[in-house]
Formats: sequence, C-alpha cells, structure tokens
Amino acid sequence: MVVFDFDWSLVEENSDTWVLDQLGATAIFKRLKATGMPWTQLMDISLLAAHEELGKGRQEILEACASVPFAACMQQAVKELAGRGCDLVILSDANSLYIDTILQHHGLQEHFKEVHTNRAYWEGDSLRVLPHHQDPEPHGCPNCPANLCKGKVMERLLLQQNYSRVVYLGDGPGDFCPSTRLGPRDFVLSREFYPTGAPCSLLRLARAESARVTACFHGASRPANDGAAAAALASAAEADGCSHSNSHADLLAGSNAGEEGVCRRKQMQRGVAS
Ligand SMILES: [Mg+2]
Ligand SMILES: [Zn+2]
Repeated sequence: MVVFDFDWSLVEENSDTWVLDQLGATAIFKRLKATGMPWTQLMDISLLAAHEELGKGRQEILEACASVPFAACMQQAVKELAGRGCDLVILSDANSLYIDTILQHHGLQEHFKEVHTNRAYWEGDSLRVLPHHQDPEPHGCPNCPANLCKGKVMERLLLQQNYSRVVYLGDGPGDFCPSTRLGPRDFVLSREFYPTGAPCSLLRLARAESARVTACFHGASRPANDGAAAAALASAAEADGCSHSNSHADLLAGSNAGEEGVCRRKQMQRGVAS
C-alpha cells in the first residue's frame, strides 16, 4: 500500500491556500487566520467570506483546483504504482472537493482506492468544509489537530488488510503521527525542503523523536525522487513475496518487531541523523 499526504506530497502546493489565493481571498484568509481559529474552520469561513465579499463560488473554486501544480513525474508514479497492483490511498488535511476535482482533472481518480480527508460540500454556490472526525468525543491524540488524527486513520487502514509493506509520502507535522504506526519493513518518504528553502517538519520531528519511529525514513528533495522512490519501493514490496501475516496488527498491539526491526531501525537512525 502506498499512502499519500496530498499538499506538498502528491501535489506541489498547499491546495487550501492556493485556491484562496486564486480567488483573490488572500487578505480575507490572513484577517481570519489572525483570530487563531482551527485550520478546517478557517478554510470553511474563508470560503464563505470569499463568496459573500468577492462573489467567488463554484466555478472559480473548480478552476482554481484545476490549476494546482502537480508534477508530471508524480502523476506517472501514481499510474505505475496502480499498474503494479498497489493499493493507493490519500490521507489529507485538505478536503474532499479539492482532492476529487484535482484527481479528476488529471484523470487519476480511478487509481486511488480510498481518500480520507475533511468533508466538503456545496451549500448553494458556497463551498463548506467539515472536520474529518465527526464524533462528539475528541480523538484523544495529543499530537494532532481535533479535526483529523492521521495516525488513527492509518491504524484503521492497517487493521483492515495485511500489507507486506507500506510506503508513506508526507511533509508536514500532521504526517508524523501516521508514520509512528508503521513498522520496520515500511518506508516514509519525506520532502526535505519547500521551494522557499524552509525545511519540512516531518523530517525534523522524526529526528527529534526517533524513539517513536521504527519505519525507514528517506528524505527526498524533489518530487521526481519521491515518485521514483515510491515506484521502486512498491516493487521491492512485491518482490518481498511473503505475506507477513498480522505484521501491522502485531505492531499496533505492541508486540516485538523482531531482529529485522532492530536492523532497520539502526539504518533509519543513521539515515535521519545524516
Ligand atoms: Mg502535506
Ligand atoms: Zn494523531
């Protein structure tokens, strides 16, 4: 299974801020952001305000989604991975409308088995965004925002089916929680830097909290590397050949990762420290 974070992992932008910028709603976004409201609510209210104050609605939002930068090599990697029979999943803090629209625009929707993200829907000509977790009880993870704990979703994915290997592509702080659910046979491919030169939080967290990580971390500075590495690793997962039954379930239950785990873990620590 290959699990993609969406913003700055599958695509080359933050779709949330990209769409607002294209709508001319950057000032609205900044004004509302200063109030300190949670991100999902900030997106919901910013989109409402863009509609009320600027008259920007469905057509403009769909056009903005279609223009989100999406590297050709990453699109090619998606097709190759799907062609090899990998289950492809998106795990994102963006929203369902942006992701569906962007995948559809590039003809990639059929390649993804599941998309887990915040729920978006049209209310007339306004786009509304709701948190992914709708339960009245908080999810209880101290590391994730209330709207979405990617680690909880990853747990469900791993318990649903036995995978010989999971490859996770991420960049941000929200990608660390799901990374901690992975085992010694799994890989996390993290973007290293944004185009501004700022380092990505996922690698920083993996270095700072290496005791919580058993998967192998790899930094990738360009999407081309990410895409090629994902394809290579998925092929390695296939070549692995054995079913490793219950491996992820055992890990989640806290059982010993075994000798292979120790070995991989040393590799990871060297990789992350370098
Ligand atoms: Mg991201
Ligand atoms: Zn979490």
